[in-house]
Amino acid sequence: MYWFRRDLRLADLPGLRATTDAAALLPVWVDEARWHQTDRWGIEPLGPHRARFQADAVADLDRSLRALGSRLWAQAGDPVALIAALVKAASIDVVVTQAEVAPYEQDDVAALRRAGVNVLTVAPTSLFDLSDLPFKPAAVPTVFTPFRHAVEGERTPVHPPMAAPRSLPPLPDAAGLPEPVLPAAASEGGDDPRSSFPYARAGWTGAARDALAHVQRYFAGPLPRQYKATRNGLSGTGFSTKFSPWLATGAISPRQIHAELLAHEAREGASDGSRWIVFELLWREHFRLLHHRFGRKLYRGRGLTDQPSPGHNPQGFARWQTGRTGVPLVDAAMRELAATGFMSNRLRQLVASYLIHDLGGDWRAGAAWFEHLLVDHDVHSNHGNWLYISGRGTDPRGGRRFNPEKQAREHDPDGAFVRMWSGR
Ligand SMILES: Cc1cc2nc3c(=O)[nH]c(=O)nc-3n(C[C@H](O)[C@H](O)[C@H](O)COP(=O)(O)OP(=O)(O)OC[C@H]3O[C@@H](n4cnc5c(N)ncnc54)[C@H](O)[C@@H]3O)c2cc1C
Repeated sequence: MYWFRRDLRLADLPGLRATTDAAALLPVWVDEARWHQTDRWGIEPLGPHRARFQADAVADLDRSLRALGSRLWAQAGDPVALIAALVKAASIDVVVTQAEVAPYEQDDVAALRRAGVNVLTVAPTSLFDLSDLPFKPAAVPTVFTPFRHAVEGERTPVHPPMAAPRSLPPLPDAAGLPEPVLPAAASEGGDDPRSSFPYARAGWTGAARDALAHVQRYFAGPLPRQYKATRNGLSGTGFSTKFSPWLATGAISPRQIHAELLAHEAREGASDGSRWIVFELLWREHFRLLHHRFGRKLYRGRGLTDQPSPGHNPQGFARWQTGRTGVPLVDAAMRELAATGFMSNRLRQLVASYLIHDLGGDWRAGAAWFEHLLVDHDVHSNHGNWLYISGRGTDPRGGRRFNPEKQAREHDPDGAFVRMWSGR
């Protein structure tokens, strides 16, 4: 069995390549029950935007597998129980899956192993291979800049991506297996004309083919050279790369993006913009690697510090969620998030800071709301950034408060963004 998790693609997937000599292969994906159960904040992890985007990614993966004579055995429910049952029903000798370094995903693998299932985890294709790093993953520098200096100083390689397999083993005998059920894609949403990531529009869906086409189109045009100057923009499809939703589902790998970036630099020369895109991908890499060092500590209210756990402000939180704090730029950003599933990095920083430092809210509640709504939710980047802004993570300055008035003056000087989302 190959169990797809956050790697909804066929290219650059060493674990899948490792299965191509098997006598039979069952490709599996699970719509996990926990994504639909409310958490301690009363929030369902998988909201409508990502559900749609992910459903499109899964449907595309199924099509790509069918083109190779296979198909995706999509199931819905508790992944541990479902995988264990499939293993038994199809007499599967090994389950191969990407090693996701995050608590729930690690717990699932541990539970399967306890149940006697033979699970082989393969390191995820990130920018760097763990074995190439100039430090042990568990000793990754805590602060971003020393991390960046270490990998840049040692010229840690980014390997070229692997091609997708040209053929796959046949499916095992399906007699006795529950029928595969692809997730239903909601038919509404994703096409708000104001959206910075219109995921229901042709070319912007969760499909791996859209991911690669988007990245290639991006690097073929003028935007990479402008990226450093535009990246703090608030609205529009072009001010930043918009790679994040596809990276989050794994419809594309960082190495595939890096290869397209190198091809762009070979054609047009490196620019401040192209170099800054790599810089941002290093942030993503750092937040992932921190899990090797700190694991579950990153999810505690106090994070990596000895500070008391943050308080929760339910009324303030409700006003923040619904864009009714009375601070125009914060409210506009929160309405954009709810309506479209996307928000610029600058505004993510501002609204996170506002919840934590102005409303006295718990950063974990904010992270849970982002998880529900963001089309690009990624547990490492989301929790990492929230913890960072709260001052309980790896910010050497001990947290950041963003002044809403100053941010509005600098980034929305004519009030266009606030007007766009004010409903007036
Ligand atoms: C509170 C908060 C929560 C966030 N939650 C998420 C999340 O759930 N998923 C997510 O992918 N990003 C998250 N980010 C990081 C960042 O806002 C998004 O990656 C970025 O806005 C996505 O748009 P883009 O692809 O156009 O980014 P670009 O500016 O084009 O950057 C290129 C790529 O670099 C990476 N990157 C850029 N900035 C960051 C960053 N600060 N941290 C980590 N990686 C970064 C992303 O992979 C991104 O796709 C969060 C930031 C904050 C402040």
